[in-house]
Formats: sequence, structure tokens, C-alpha cells
Amino acid sequence: MALIEAPPVDMILFFQKVRKAQQAWAQELSIPLSDEQKKQVLSLLSKKEHVWSHELFPFDPTKLRIYGEEILELLQSMLDRDGTSTENQETLFSLGQLLQGDGADEFYRLLAEGDFEALEKKGSALSIDQPLLHYLIRAMLKPYLLASAKALGDIFSTQEWNEPICPHCGSEPSMGRLSTEEHGKRYLFCSTCETEWPFRRVVCPFCANEDQYTLPIYYVEEERHYRIEGCDQCKRYLKTVDERHYPKKESLDLYEEDVATVQLDLVAREKGLTQK
Ligand SMILES: [Zn+2]
Ligand SMILES: [Zn+2]
Repeated sequence: MALIEAPPVDMILFFQKVRKAQQAWAQELSIPLSDEQKKQVLSLLSKKEHVWSHELFPFDPTKLRIYGEEILELLQSMLDRDGTSTENQETLFSLGQLLQGDGADEFYRLLAEGDFEALEKKGSALSIDQPLLHYLIRAMLKPYLLASAKALGDIFSTQEWNEPICPHCGSEPSMGRLSTEEHGKRYLFCSTCETEWPFRRVVCPFCANEDQYTLPIYYVEEERHYRIEGCDQCKRYLKTVDERHYPKKESLDLYEEDVATVQLDLVAREKGLTQK
């Protein structure tokens, strides 16, 4: 069954609404860290292992169900506005079965346990596209990841991590930031859990290349606050916001900047660089 199709403007609005809801849910979820948890977190970080796991930060299936049903509702209301194609209606029907039907409790239990193989089986039994299922899974888990990232923020800011992966969830960075501290101290950003951590300036986070002559930087003069940090060895790149040239007054939201800088991805592609 095909992915949901909607005009791009509607899709952008939908993603914005989901993000707003996720942030509100994360606010409600308070995840206090016990001394035992703190000890485990520090021990993992010292071993250079990321800290998130189901055991340390368990999910509550009843809450996941609330998120799942609300995301489905947002999807429905986006498509209901101007009527929608039969294909979209069929997909919505299958999603309704998955997220609200008879087997829904089991779906949320599997989601809380992180049994992705079983979730994929459930999705394909209802002919739901894998990318759509993966999007929904990530969207439902995100409030928890945001909440635990927040609870761990103080620890991350005081610990030496300096690894090329997120100290919280272990994902690769999706964006970089050159701050106004120390003439452009570099931070990496993970869009999966929205954690930021300091990283050395002249080194590729994907292949550890440190040769500055093979680490090209691209930007356009009118938009010096955006740059592409490329690597000629592994041919990957990281979009980076240079705060020293950032004109906006409001606080920087790297998640939104990632979505808003698609033009940089096109430039990077022209230079022969890829994201993954
Ligand atoms: Zn992360
Ligand atoms: Zn590289």
C-alpha cells in the first residue's frame, strides 16, 4: 500500500503539528534519574557507550497508545480537509486497525519492548509501507527520547564525550553548530533525540579524517551562517550552522534548521557528497 500522499504544504504543517505535540508530551513526561541510574549512565559514558536502553528508560505502552492515536488523528485531519484519494483512505483504514483496532494493545506492548521485527510483521500483515511504519514508530517514541535527553542534559554537558555518535541514543550526528564560544567551538546535534554534544573542530565525524586539506567547507557569501562541512575521504557531509554569523535573534533550533536547509543538501550532492 502506498505512502500517504498530500500537498507538500499540508505535509509540512502536519510534521510541525506532530513535533509540537511531541514537545508537549515530553514536557509532561518527567523522568527523574535515581542515583543508581546516574551511576549506570556515568559508567556507560566512561566506557564510551551511549546511555539509552529500554532497561534504563522503559516506555509505558498506555502512553504510547495516546501518542499513536493522536498522531493518527492529526494525519486524518490533514487528509480530511479537502477529501482524499482512495489510496490514502485505504492506508488510513489500515493504520486505524494497527493503532486502534483489536490488536492495538499488543502493538503498543511490542513497541514498548522494542521488538521491531514483530512490529514490522504486524505492519506488513496490514500492507502498511515500511517507511510509513518507521516514521510512526519514531514519532511515538520521540517524546520519551526528548524527555530522557532533557533529564541527562546536565550530565552530558559536564562529561567529556568527544565521540562521533550521540551520547544518548548512539545515532550519527545530523547537524553541526559552531557556537560563539571559543571562536566557534563545535557541537554536533542528533535529530533522533535532539541531544547536542561538543566535538573536535577539524575532524570528520563519519570517518575520523583529520587532514584539513581533504575537509572542504562550502557556503554562499549571502548565507554565511550555513555551511556544508564535507569530507573528500568518505564523501559525506554535515550541514552546520555558524552561530557567529547567525542573523536571527530567537534561539537556534537545529531540528528546524535541518528541515529548512534542503538547498544545502542539493549543493552537497552537486559536490559529489552524500548524507549516508
Ligand atoms: Zn541521540
Ligand atoms: Zn569522512
